[in-house]
Amino acid sequence: MSSIQCKTTAMKNSIKELAESKIDDFASQLRGKLVMPSDERYDQERKVYNGMIDKRPGMFVKCVDVADVMAAVNFGRDNNLLVAIRGGGHNGGGLGLCDDGLVIDLAGLKFIRVDVANKTVRVGGGNIWGEVDHATHPFGLAVPAGIISTTGVGGLTLGGGVGHLSRKYGLTIDNLLEADMVLADGSFVTVSANENTDLFWAIRGGGGNFGIVTSFKFQAHDVKNVFGGPTLWPIEKTEEIMEWYHEFLNNAPDDLNGFIATMVIPGPPFPEHLHNKHFCGIIWCYTGDMAKVEEVFKSVVDKNPVFDHRGEMPYPAIQTLFDGLMPPGLQWYWKADFFTELGPEIRAQHLKFGSKIPTPLSQMHLYPISGAASRVGKEDTPWAYRDAKYAGVIVGVDPSPENAAKITYWCKDYWNALHPYSSGGAYSNFMMNEGQERVKASYKHNYDRLAKIKKEYDPSNFFSVNQNIQPSD
Ligand SMILES: Cc1cc2nc3c(=O)[nH]c(=O)nc-3n(C[C@H](O)[C@H](O)[C@H](O)COP(=O)(O)OP(=O)(O)OC[C@H]3O[C@@H](n4cnc5c(N)ncnc54)[C@H](O)[C@@H]3O)c2cc1C
Repeated sequence: MSSIQCKTTAMKNSIKELAESKIDDFASQLRGKLVMPSDERYDQERKVYNGMIDKRPGMFVKCVDVADVMAAVNFGRDNNLLVAIRGGGHNGGGLGLCDDGLVIDLAGLKFIRVDVANKTVRVGGGNIWGEVDHATHPFGLAVPAGIISTTGVGGLTLGGGVGHLSRKYGLTIDNLLEADMVLADGSFVTVSANENTDLFWAIRGGGGNFGIVTSFKFQAHDVKNVFGGPTLWPIEKTEEIMEWYHEFLNNAPDDLNGFIATMVIPGPPFPEHLHNKHFCGIIWCYTGDMAKVEEVFKSVVDKNPVFDHRGEMPYPAIQTLFDGLMPPGLQWYWKADFFTELGPEIRAQHLKFGSKIPTPLSQMHLYPISGAASRVGKEDTPWAYRDAKYAGVIVGVDPSPENAAKITYWCKDYWNALHPYSSGGAYSNFMMNEGQERVKASYKHNYDRLAKIKKEYDPSNFFSVNQNIQPSD
């Protein structure tokens, strides 16, 4: 926990000390339920995706509509409580929970309406991406999102959103048209390019700092089937493959996306001869003309991957390809940075640490920030690193808490070796709870504008359990 958050926590009231009548009165205003530490469901409720997170909130408000969210914000503010917002519960640092405070849980705030004529999608603040893909796919439409279908729409979108469609259609925030929000004073606003434009700018990357988004409206695109999947090379070839990949992808059409990784093949469904071996891999996703697949991938095939599992598949299939390997409840430790190039020093570190991956599920990914994602101005949204070529992330992952230290040290050592060659900051959604300097580095030249908007809409820093932007002085 950062010192700033400790300070905030110390100044807050404890839910344990609230009069029972106050809690009863609050419960009577809700359609959703409260879950308290004495409830049987409490331990289930406080589980998030990262099994390393062990926080004990004082109360969950299971919101089912906007009125519940407004009541929860007013209750939290009037009683001076620490408040966390939980969407899909995927945040690495567990920022959807807080100790002793109030968790405003949006999992019951789900609705999706696809406007086929206008190719737009309206999505609830508590939906997860797999639900969105399921709703849009029958219409041959998709919204750019992340690569695991159980990730929350809320947290991923508000932080930026990188994934298989980034090069073709930009980040998720580049496809956000409108949002409904409940602000710290309990008021309800709609934000878009025409309404509350400062807030609309701030939420396209600034996270949950400015209010609770109860509904998102996205631009969808014509994506039905894609051609993709993994190609693998022995880890010893990492430097050669990375050098070629950088050149190849940055000269490829936007239709082609591929994130590069160092990884271990953990087991089925991969063939047995690959199990527990270290690889440099690329996970491709091509959305262009299927008649051109052979031509587009010729250079990939020429590099003779030892495993090639590309093929045509429905878009939701690539979006769920890794769900089975990464179930909820594993231990996760994250470290991240942006990179503009993959020079020889960087490639050498990837070979070194990729060869030392400590557990079968631990990995390093470099997600391309090129094509359409790079053509948005550096100040057009808070997402400052439009000129970086990659959003890099190192994840130490394992089912056993006994390996928590091992995966954490590997992650930190890998990151320490690469950080001097990075752009200096990281994608906020790929960070743990790393303190103010890292948040500032993440927003770079856009931080001051975010801090001014924060001061206007949340001067008391009511929404503080996030990659926190401090209200400007
Ligand atoms: C396995 C895995 C794969 C991932 N893959 C990708 C990927 O491919 N691309 C990518 O960009 N990111 C990816 N991420 C990172 C992901 O974007 C972040 O973890 C994000 O915070 C998850 O959002 P959530 O709603 O599930 O999280 P939560 O833990 O529920 O919330 C995190 C924070 O988001 C804010 N928040 C959530 N919902 C709302 C809302 N409706 N209104 C206001 N604030 C809200 C709150 O501040 C909250 O503290 C991945 C994460 C995991 C664990």
